[in-house]
Amino acid sequence: MSYNSARFSQSGSKLKNCPPDQGVEVAFAGRSNAGKSSAINSITNNKKLARTSKTPGRTQLINFFSLSTPGVRLVDLPGYGFAKVSLDLKAEWGKHLDDYLRNRESLAGLVLIMDIRKPLTEFDQMLLDWSSECQLPTLILLTKSDKLKFGPAKQVMFQVKKQLEAHQSLEDVILFSSLKKSGIKESRFALDKIINQRLLDNSPSPEDSQED
Ligand code: GDP
Repeated sequence: MSYNSARFSQSGSKLKNCPPDQGVEVAFAGRSNAGKSSAINSITNNKKLARTSKTPGRTQLINFFSLSTPGVRLVDLPGYGFAKVSLDLKAEWGKHLDDYLRNRESLAGLVLIMDIRKPLTEFDQMLLDWSSECQLPTLILLTKSDKLKFGPAKQVMFQVKKQLEAHQSLEDVILFSSLKKSGIKESRFALDKIINQRLLDNSPSPEDSQED
C-alpha cells in the first residue's frame, strides 16, 4: 500500500455519517495523548494529516483517510479516557464508537496505540479483550519508545507480548517513535498484511464468477 497517498476523506460522529460500509478499513485507537495522531502522520509521512495536540481529548470525531488503493481507508478514532477510566465502553467512549467497532463490516483491523511508559491500561485491555473475542487482527504500537533506552524498551515489548499470549489475533507489538521515526517500516508491513488479507477475502473466488 502507498501510505504516503493517504488523504483526508471525511469525519463522522455517527455510523450514518461515515463513508459507505464497503472496502477495507484499519482503525487506530488509543488513550488521549498516547501519540496516535503523531503515529498516523509518521506512517503516512504527512505532518498535517491527523491533528496532533497537546490538549488531550480534543477530537471527538471519527476521521477517515483514503489511500490511493480504491476502497482502502485508515480511520482515526477519538482518543479515550484521559482521567478516569470507566469500564463501560458505551459510557466512556460514546455509543457511536461502540456501534462502529461492533458493526462496521469494512473494519479489517485495529491498531492500538500505547505510550510505552503506560502500556495496557484497563481500557486498552478492554479493547484487546474485545478484538480477541472478535478475532479482529490487532497491531500494537508502543509509542514514544525514544523515552526509554533500547534494553528497557525491548523488555516492555516482551512483557506486553507475554501478557497477550492468549489473544486470538495479535499481529505484532512494535517499538515506535514518531520523534526518531522508528518502527514505521514494520508498522507499514503489518498494515499491508492486514489490508491485503481482507482484500483477498473480499475478492470473488473463481467459483463465484462461474455460471452453470
Ligand atoms: P494523541 O492525543 O494520541 O493523538 O497524541 P499526539 O500525537 O497529539 O501526541 C501527544 C504528545 O506526545 C505531543 O506533545 C507529541 O509531540 C508527543 N509525542 C507523540 N509521539 C511522540 C514520540 O514518538 N516521542 C516523543 N518523545 N513524544 C511524542
